[in-house]
Amino acid sequence: MSSVVTFDAGLTLVELDLDFLARRLAERGLVREPETLRAAAPQAWRRYDERVELYARTGGAHGRLWHDLMADLVGDADPAVIDWLWAQQPTANLFRAQIPDMVELARSLHARGVRTAVLSNSEGGLADLLAEVGIADAFDVIVDSGRIGMEKPDPAIFAYTLAQLGVAADTPAIHIGDSWSADIAGALASGWRAIWYGRRAVTVEDPRVACAHDAVETAAALQRFRV
Ligand SMILES: [Mg+2]
Repeated sequence: MSSVVTFDAGLTLVELDLDFLARRLAERGLVREPETLRAAAPQAWRRYDERVELYARTGGAHGRLWHDLMADLVGDADPAVIDWLWAQQPTANLFRAQIPDMVELARSLHARGVRTAVLSNSEGGLADLLAEVGIADAFDVIVDSGRIGMEKPDPAIFAYTLAQLGVAADTPAIHIGDSWSADIAGALASGWRAIWYGRRAVTVEDPRVACAHDAVETAAALQRFRV
């Protein structure tokens, strides 16, 4: 049996590009210097973190989290501008800044024959975005919830990813992501193991879950999982 490693996209492989956001806002006549957005970011992300678990229990969490995050970042913006940014996501995704060492990790796994996929709650244009920013080559498959009508943590999207990879449904698989409720809970419910990645990750008492704050710790966790 081959091993499978899947990656979440937002805040795992790519992050919000605030320079790009500033340029997009300017197209709608809204002046926000990148420095102003950067200053608003810590508080906006704190509020995002608070909402993640709250919204996870309801459907459509991804879109609501996205809207609220942008509203906090942009500050007193016309809601129509946020709606426009959201509508533009499939072709002008704001999460386009690479997290280079995580991309490099995916690339090195792929190069030594591990089956790799992106498994993301996104808006339908993720494959094009990852091609545009030059990282699609690291993955055998890119699964975008916006294209298939199911989203993490639904085990159906994890099973769908294995099917897309062309491997058996019981193939050992590990998912790496920053959201406990979408990525880690979804992986565990699917019978997978998981690496909880990023600033929110904390160690948990579960041998199926590793905690990693950066790519070095992620690589070490994969080794412990014998990938
Ligand atoms: Mg994420």
